[in-house]
Amino acid sequence: MEENKRDINVAEIFGENVFNDTVMQERLPKKIYKELRRTIEEGKELDINTADVIAHEMKEWAIEKGATHYTHWFQPLTGVTAEKHDSFISAPMANGKVLMSFSGKELIKGEPDASSFPSGGLRATFEARGYTAWDPTSPAFVKKDENGCILYVPTAFCSYTGEALDQKTPLLRSMEAINKQALRFLRLFGNTTSKRVKPSVGIEQEYFLVDREKYLKRKDLVFTGRTLFGAMPPKGQELDDHYFGSIRARIAAFMKEVNEELWRLGVTAKTQHNEVAPAQHELAPIFVECNVAVDHNQLIMETLKKVAEKQGLHCLLHEKPFAGVNGSGKHDNWSLTTDDGKNLLDPGKTPHENIQFLLMLLCVLRAVDRHADLLRESAADPGNDQRLGSSEAPPAIISVFLGEQLEDVLEQLVVTGNATHSIKGGKLQTGVKALPGLNKDATDRNRTSPFAFTGNKFEFRMLGSRDSAAAPNIVLNTIVAEALCEACDTLEQAEDFEQALHDLIKSYATEHQKIVFNGNGYSDKWVEEAKRRGLPNLPSMVDAIPALVEEKSVELFEKFHVFTRAELHSRAEIKYEAYAKAINIEARTMIDIASKHIIPAVIRGTKVLADTVNAVVQAGVDAEVPRELLVETSGLLKETKEALGRLEQVTSEAAFKAEGQAQAEYFYKEVVPVMEALRTPVDRLEMIVDKEIWPMPSYGDLIFEV
Ligand code: ADP
Ligand code: MG
Repeated sequence: MEENKRDINVAEIFGENVFNDTVMQERLPKKIYKELRRTIEEGKELDINTADVIAHEMKEWAIEKGATHYTHWFQPLTGVTAEKHDSFISAPMANGKVLMSFSGKELIKGEPDASSFPSGGLRATFEARGYTAWDPTSPAFVKKDENGCILYVPTAFCSYTGEALDQKTPLLRSMEAINKQALRFLRLFGNTTSKRVKPSVGIEQEYFLVDREKYLKRKDLVFTGRTLFGAMPPKGQELDDHYFGSIRARIAAFMKEVNEELWRLGVTAKTQHNEVAPAQHELAPIFVECNVAVDHNQLIMETLKKVAEKQGLHCLLHEKPFAGVNGSGKHDNWSLTTDDGKNLLDPGKTPHENIQFLLMLLCVLRAVDRHADLLRESAADPGNDQRLGSSEAPPAIISVFLGEQLEDVLEQLVVTGNATHSIKGGKLQTGVKALPGLNKDATDRNRTSPFAFTGNKFEFRMLGSRDSAAAPNIVLNTIVAEALCEACDTLEQAEDFEQALHDLIKSYATEHQKIVFNGNGYSDKWVEEAKRRGLPNLPSMVDAIPALVEEKSVELFEKFHVFTRAELHSRAEIKYEAYAKAINIEARTMIDIASKHIIPAVIRGTKVLADTVNAVVQAGVDAEVPRELLVETSGLLKETKEALGRLEQVTSEAAFKAEGQAQAEYFYKEVVPVMEALRTPVDRLEMIVDKEIWPMPSYGDLIFEV
């Protein structure tokens, strides 16, 4: 029987394009391999001789795979990744031939031209140059396709004076911070063996797929990633028949190729399914350590885009490509794992484990309650402004879902200082008897919570689908490091550990109960209730950015060496600029589409209607219906023209505002409402004019006919 050429052996191809531990162990001399492991595990600096050997082997391996170039792969503050390719060739020899070389120095450090990446003013005050530095904890890999094969070296990107110009540097710093505090925490509970604690992260990625031909006919999608106009089709997502529905052949072929590419890159692509909205899907890998998960998420986004293009599709990663239809996000599943495999968010089975877990849980609650504004900010990007609080998206208010059992435990702790029973299963006495086995079903049913405890991990669901997952993890790692640090400060000094622990648990439970909310996060009642509890509600990115530079944030990040004050201010600047730029592009795209396409098309439509009215009247028949339509269309056309004029005016005025906060606020308060005012009559026009004359594919064409 002929073998199907498309059949693949997953175990065989998995990680085949990665310079992973197995490859390193095979290819590197023992001593060098050991050195590198120490660098990876203990953060020890790598000496140049060791780096030379590693670089040489890495190059040989890459060349065997077909690589011609290498690149330092980094994550500047644009939300996407950047790369600059260098070929391996060195200066020609006397005989006219060249050698392929890659030195330790080239592996460890690169100097891309930093001036075209956002720095938020950092480079105005310091050096203009920047450098990239190898992150040996994230493995190198080759990417190969028809267009070539390139060795990718994951790196961090800094200014010459050491300021972070990227997402990875602060992420690695935050991992260091939480490692240190979590180890202190473990020692207090008698653990003397674990050597390292790392955040484990699994990122679920949602996306839309549309037909590429149709996509190209929508300038708004092409320029901004979302539709700026568009009426809802008669059939929406009311039926929810798409969710977990069977996957159609075209989509299945797409997913197959995506999975294969990702597996070759060592990305643990695991689950795939249809999402709530028509044409919406999700991909989730198995969790790995935080920095690798963030890198892999970038690879996932790139691969989705690339494969879609190859297959005549287009992948929309925008948070809200279609108004009125479910938006896309990422779910950041987060826990803490020791090098010897213990999950610090696992409730455990013994009373001793339970009490350690309870304090851990309360430290996370404390962290989230105190820095809810920072978490909210970390999920802010212009696209997420369209999604948060909208259909099926978590609200812009941060709260924590614990599930019935744990909420009950918390309640008892607050009231009595002891939890003496549980709703389900046996007796519970913190420190005396065991917590009930928390079954996942009992903890995981609230989909409306932005921050949910799901059995042995927290799931932060506010992240935007298009944004890098770095910022939310930086914040999460740092705020939990702070809470652990404070708990350790108290407990390390205590004369009576048991008593101090008991008191601390009770006081944290009491102080932070207000962040716990197990109800429906999508209801208006919750907005009122949250206000009463004093929880921040920051509906827009522009409302959220100031949290970055508040004194309490500066103190937090400086204390744990994650960001300096200057770095935080630069990040706030970059985000204001990003917001202003995004809205500016959207507004200009709307102006373009409305004036060059929609208005002319509708005018043509009114002419047809007017001719019809005349012809009908001439025929001696009542022309009431076409006349009514003509009047309605003309009215909406007038409304459109007026809103267009206003949008042109406010958009050009925005250019004169001082860059930064003032300009971002102007866009948010003055431009965005006029964009909505322009959209309203256009969407109504789309509903009444002849489909033949509408200048672009409709929502129905885009999301039901993939
Ligand atoms: P859902 O029910 O939300 O679809 P799953 O249980 O399928 O969630 O898991 C979603 C993600 O969470 C996956 O990436 C998975 O690997 C990850 N995950 C599972 N356990 C942990 C953990 N202990 N820490 C971090 N991530 C985890
Ligand atoms: Mg999830």
